[in-house]
Amino acid sequence: MDLRAWADRAVAEIGAWQRAFGEFAPHPDAVVPDEEFGPAFAELLDRLRGTYPFHHPRYLGQLIKPPHPAAVVGYLAAMLLNPNNHALDGGPATTGLEREAVDRLAAMLGMPGALGHLTGSGTIANLESLYVARETRPGAAIAHSADAHYTHARMCHLLGVRSVPIPVDAVGRIDVAALDSLLGEQDVGTVVLTAGTTGLGAVDPIHEVLELRRRHDFRIHVDAACGGFFALIADDAPDGVAAAPFRAIAECDSVVVDPHKHGLQPYGCGAVLFADPAVERYYRHESPWTYFTSAEPHLGEISLECSRSGAAAAALWLTLRVLPPTPDGLGRVLRAGRRAALGWAELLADSAVLSAYQRPELDVLGIVPAAPGMAALDERTQRVLHGGMRAEPGEAVHLAAMEVTAADLARRGHRLRADVPTARVLRSVLLKPEHEHWIRRCHTDLEALARRAAE
Ligand SMILES: *Cc1c(COP(=O)(O)O)cnc(C)c1O
Repeated sequence: MDLRAWADRAVAEIGAWQRAFGEFAPHPDAVVPDEEFGPAFAELLDRLRGTYPFHHPRYLGQLIKPPHPAAVVGYLAAMLLNPNNHALDGGPATTGLEREAVDRLAAMLGMPGALGHLTGSGTIANLESLYVARETRPGAAIAHSADAHYTHARMCHLLGVRSVPIPVDAVGRIDVAALDSLLGEQDVGTVVLTAGTTGLGAVDPIHEVLELRRRHDFRIHVDAACGGFFALIADDAPDGVAAAPFRAIAECDSVVVDPHKHGLQPYGCGAVLFADPAVERYYRHESPWTYFTSAEPHLGEISLECSRSGAAAAALWLTLRVLPPTPDGLGRVLRAGRRAALGWAELLADSAVLSAYQRPELDVLGIVPAAPGMAALDERTQRVLHGGMRAEPGEAVHLAAMEVTAADLARRGHRLRADVPTARVLRSVLLKPEHEHWIRRCHTDLEALARRAAE
């Protein structure tokens, strides 16, 4: 796709449609002459060069990459109109696009017919599901694993609901036995399970937790903000991921997925889905000045947010139109990242200076520089991290770091002196399919950095 040509067409065609309503002169007070705009824009472009190269396979730090060109063009075209999807009155065209895109996400996650909508982020999407959890089981606690996203505890606090962290097992998944005993002891209304923790990409055994519902009465919310799109390759294949937990999402009460992570979208695109459309009753409110053109439910009547970008819906719709959420569509993009993670783990198994923190379940990979003790590990991690970021652009390797304890390391077979209680290790996310062909180069450069850090 030639981004410039398609962006140009978006501006031309949306402009032509707008001009058909009759030309008018812009108000002089809002007009900015090109000679004033030019220097300001140049300054912005200059400032933007202060960012990290999220677009490049050498950037493997966080869950960040530029959107797919289809998403950029879709967003741009709709943004020129700036529809607001809180109501049909604000986004008559983009509301339909949102409904279709959400239906595709629901089909992907095995929840056809779910009630859902896009949100500004995964955090807001989770807030909505925790709000519905509270309304459905008033007074009951919400349980989540200790490795669940930090916003669950924060949002429970915000909602005035008690939240209970459950320990994790040796690979960062919720400890099902510990959950089982908690459910026997306390009034837990909803259990939050994570399909792909942000730190490690660990997938809670959703299928095993479903079994606990035979003995205990509780709801399940799945936070698949990070891992939801892996449902497309959850087939137990050598370059796929485990099928059972993803298949089990179909039996849960709600699920969140972030199209602005693996769904190739720009920021401002989360999604929440509820298996039971009747939860709509918890959102009911009156807004006589916005809901006047249709008796149909508006998206604003099933979401906590009011104004929401119709352009985000257009971008997602267009992306899913050309890269459908199927194993042969977007699934192929996910699979390449998965192969990159597995391939790198293999390279690390043969390295004298680096090792994999644990076997990757999705496309997140922890990397441990060899060190005799925790203090040295922390220092080497820091040196490799900064060395990789400060290297010349053609040799840079951008990673992230995460803090772990000596016990976390020992459980995974990394034995080193616990001279200090915690240390940072490296963390990478193979979010781009291009990583598949770059890990060997990144690995070689990272090994050189690790060797230097150990000197
Ligand atoms: C990223 C993430 C969130 C938060 O989503 P935002 O879109 O960043 O607000 C919640 N849960 C998990 C598992 C995540 O990876």
